[in-house]
Parts: sequence; structure tokens; C-alpha cells
Amino acid sequence: MTAGMPWLDHTHDPAAQSWVESANLEACEFPIQNLPFGRFRASGTQEWRVGVAIGDAVLDLRQAGVIDHADMRRLLGLTPNERRALRLTLHAGLMRGSEQERLWRVALSPMSQVQLGLPCDIRDYTDFYVGMHHATAVGKLFRPENPLLPNYKWVPIGYHGRASTIFPSGQSFRRPHGQVRGAPGEAPQFGPSRRLDYELELGIIVGRPNAPGEPVVIADAEDHVFGLALFNDWSARDIQAWEYQPLGPFLSKSFASTISPWIVTLEALAPFRRPFVRPDGDPAPLPYLDCEANRAAGALDIELEVRLQTQAMRAAGSQPEVLSRSNFADAAYWTMAQLVTHHTSNGCALSTGDLLGTGTLSGPEPQQAGSLLELAQAGETPVALTNGETRSVLHDGDTVVMRGFCRRAGFRSIGLGSCEATVSPAREG
Ligand code: MN
Repeated sequence: MTAGMPWLDHTHDPAAQSWVESANLEACEFPIQNLPFGRFRASGTQEWRVGVAIGDAVLDLRQAGVIDHADMRRLLGLTPNERRALRLTLHAGLMRGSEQERLWRVALSPMSQVQLGLPCDIRDYTDFYVGMHHATAVGKLFRPENPLLPNYKWVPIGYHGRASTIFPSGQSFRRPHGQVRGAPGEAPQFGPSRRLDYELELGIIVGRPNAPGEPVVIADAEDHVFGLALFNDWSARDIQAWEYQPLGPFLSKSFASTISPWIVTLEALAPFRRPFVRPDGDPAPLPYLDCEANRAAGALDIELEVRLQTQAMRAAGSQPEVLSRSNFADAAYWTMAQLVTHHTSNGCALSTGDLLGTGTLSGPEPQQAGSLLELAQAGETPVALTNGETRSVLHDGDTVVMRGFCRRAGFRSIGLGSCEATVSPAREG
């Protein structure tokens, strides 16, 4: 393997089992091979603690004596070697038969009894647009004659978002107000958005920073990535349609985004890599966005899923219903390494705790779309739910749940947990 590509080691051994018995159940997303990091607190306490998810529990890293602080940013800033050493320590201590069991048991809390927060204080937030099938499908709705703009296959497209309104999973948010235009030629009006949507994305959490003026070359790019979380970039399509030209999305996006509580590290994701390939006939990436390691294993095989639970479904006791499924590797036209390298190629500094959203990860088939806009074809083909309700846009009381899974023969499956939130009614007046 090449620099920047994490090695497979004994921490990926599928036979390894933990003394935390729930971690050994086949359906468990947080077996000893995963070990994602997040922040939690006991109810009634203020201070966030840094923990690792294992089975249905959270291990408090400071209480366990693994680290001497509760500062997630310090953890994110570890060098790749330090991070690997931490993974080895956690893996060894959580293994069945470990001498640490007696000491660490007191640092273990049931996940159901703690509050999970934002995985870290998020510094800056950039949202990319790596989903080519999404870009094409949305482009078709807005510009039937010219769906994919000519820069798309050359430049990883992105915009600067706001970190101030990124919420932890489980926190509801209000439907935004904004300026919306009815038909072309009509004067715009100000009011609650009527075309609220979700976007199925992954969030890339930046670990090591780069200095201003010092681009990160692609062979080193993954050394600056700590790991991934699920990310829902809620979008008000009516506000977006009126405001997005000429400078891109603004208030149609910044009212709320939701991120899942656990950051799954690149080490945990190592078994699920795939070659990065371009469709035949597409341009090769420019040399600064290309390297052998990125071609060999730059893509990640992560299955993604969106579910919806309406208020009526909740009242009837029905579980969230699947709207679509896709896969990061099939959906993305650019890799994590290319995003980091492109972002810093002009000298822009990324900081520890920055978040890079991938953009909506729609698969190649229409039913694999990662937004309602695409699934319902801008209202032409509303999505039919089993209870008889339909959806082209989100209603108040709708809960959207996103999940992610990695599976490969010969390895233990892992999950990314859950990213969910409920739409609350707009503010009065
Ligand atoms: Mn987005």
C-alpha cells in the first residue's frame, strides 16, 4: 500500500470479539472492528465527554485512562500514526479476555442512557457536489437542454456553507422562511418554504490542518482526513431556485444541516476501499488530482439508505419506510483525496474539525436518488408511501433517517449509525 492508504492489520480481523457482548451480535454496527469516535454526556450534565462506540455502549476515553483530556479537536489533530496507535490500544483493551476489562467497565455507559452530541465543534463547512447522477438529474430539471455544465468533469464543484447551523442527530429544526418566486415574471414573496427537501450526503471530517499557502498534494490528502459521518443537507428548493444564480446556494441551505454522532475513521473503513474509475470517454483528472494510490483505492464502498417516517406513520406506530438506497462509490465522481487536494490547491487552509460535505449521493438509477426533488421528479411523480400518503416535498412532522453500512466478504460489517431529524413548523409570522 502507498502513503495515505491505511494498512489492513489485525484490528480488521473478522474473528475478533469483545467483552462488550452486544458488539459481537451480527447486526451490530459498532463491533470491535469499527471503533468510531463521538461526544456524549449523561443526562443532567453539561460537559461533553469523548467516547468510542462499542456495541450498544459508549466507552469514556478519559475515564478509561486512554487519553488525559475530553477535547475532540485534540483527538482529530492526531497524526495518522498516533491515530493508529490509539486504535490498537482500544482494540486490545476491548478484546475478549483483555486485562483492561475490569478497569474499563466502569467507564462504559449504555448508549441509550446518554445524549450524543455533535461529534466535534465544526469549524468551517464546505459542501461539494460530487454526485454526478444527482448533478445530471437536477441539471435536467433546471436546464433540460444542458444538464451537466462543462466544468463538472474537471473541477470538483463546491460552495462555502455555514457551520453555525449544523445540528446533532435527533435535534428538530424549523421550516425556514425565505424569498420565493412563483412563476417567472411574478414578483417574489416572503414566507415559509413550501418545497423543503433532504440531501443524502457524507460528511468528511478534517483531521490534520494545512498551513495557509501550502496546498496538500494528493498523495498526502488522506492524512488530513480523520473520518466520515452521515450528513443531511436540508434544502429549501423554492428559495434555492430563486437565489442560486449567479453565486450559488445561500439561505436555501444554511437554515439547518444534520450530522450523525459517530465519526468512522479511515482505519475502520480500510477494508471497504474500491478503485477510483471514470466512465469510458470521460477526461482523466488533471495531474494534481491524480495519483496511483487514488486510482487503486481512492473510492469507498459505503451503502447508504434514506427512510421517512411521517407524523401519520408515527401515530400509527409504523417504522420509517425506505425511500431510496445508493452507494458512495457508485454515486461520487470525485474521491475524498481529490476534494482535500482541490480545496487546498489555491493555498486555502483547512482546519482540524472542518467539515466537507460530499454533495447529494444519488445512484445511477432513478430509484437510487438521494433527494425528494429527484425521486418525485420535481413533483411530477410523487413518492407513494404504503399508508397511502404521498410526498414530493417534506411536510411538518416528517422525520428523515439516514444510515450507512459497509459490507465485504471476508470482513466484519460495520455501520455509520444514524442521522435523523424531524421538520418542525415554521415560526409564526
Ligand atoms: Mn448539499
